[in-house]
Amino acid sequence: MITETLLYTGKAKSLYTTENPDQLLCVFRNDTSAFDGEKIVQLARKGMVNNYFNAFIMQKLAQAGIPNHFEKLKNDTSSIVKRLKMIPVECVVRNFAAGSLCRRLGVEMGLELKPPTFEFFLKNDALHDPMINDSLIITFQWATQKDIDQMKAYALQVNTVLSELFLKAGLLLVDYKLEFGHYHNSLILGDEFSPDGCRIWDAKTKKVLDKDRFRKDMGDVVEAYEEVAQRLGIALPVMPVA
Ligand code: ADP
Ligand code: UDP
Repeated sequence: MITETLLYTGKAKSLYTTENPDQLLCVFRNDTSAFDGEKIVQLARKGMVNNYFNAFIMQKLAQAGIPNHFEKLKNDTSSIVKRLKMIPVECVVRNFAAGSLCRRLGVEMGLELKPPTFEFFLKNDALHDPMINDSLIITFQWATQKDIDQMKAYALQVNTVLSELFLKAGLLLVDYKLEFGHYHNSLILGDEFSPDGCRIWDAKTKKVLDKDRFRKDMGDVVEAYEEVAQRLGIALPVMPVA
């Protein structure tokens, strides 16, 4: 009996139904995109690395009391997750200035942000994910005030847990993007946490170890993701380079 039907193909992951209506199979592909999908390349091993990376981080967050959709690893490139009704906003937390914050405000890259900042963006590639705020989210009914408060609280809790975890490995968690959704009546963290959706720098040398290597054509993209995984103690299976 065929139980898996393709439900959604995003820029980096594909979601399939499973025999359990409350669960999806999330497949991490090697597709790597930037600039709202304008630049797309296949990077060998990336799907596998992100699948293991995400599993490790989501389990750490669950242990710290942050509910999320991760259920279990299915194979090297896919995991079983809870099926969520996603909220179409991206939550970005920043500890150091980089990327769009520098472009928008003209601040120096690497400036430490105290306290960390929180921003909402609308998930809409055609509109280039515009920045939005609580008022717009309420008016356009993308989420409720209760959801907004919960997303902010969880996003900052994630920061406490992960900044410490990364720092212990000599890494700075510069910024990251989270997506939330509803599982029945609860709001929980969904999507992924991997170097595709965050910025990570070596704490001493400030070497870039995230998707900026791809955006800026710096090379060794997956090698950098693997270095972070290894430093965090994530065991990756050895796979031949395709
Ligand atoms: P994008 O949609 O940005 O191109 P991806 O390739 O990562 O990104 O696709 C994953 C899609 O699946 C995203 O739209 C995300 O909101 C959605 N998603 C992530 N986790 C879940 C989940 N647990 N249940 C339902 N949808 C999810
Ligand atoms: N980010 C993401 N998906 C997006 C937009 C941003 O994963 O659609 C991540 C990005 O990798 C970075 C953080 O969110 O870790 C902040 O991104 P920023 O606003 O600086 O945008 P960028 O300069 O990457 O376009």
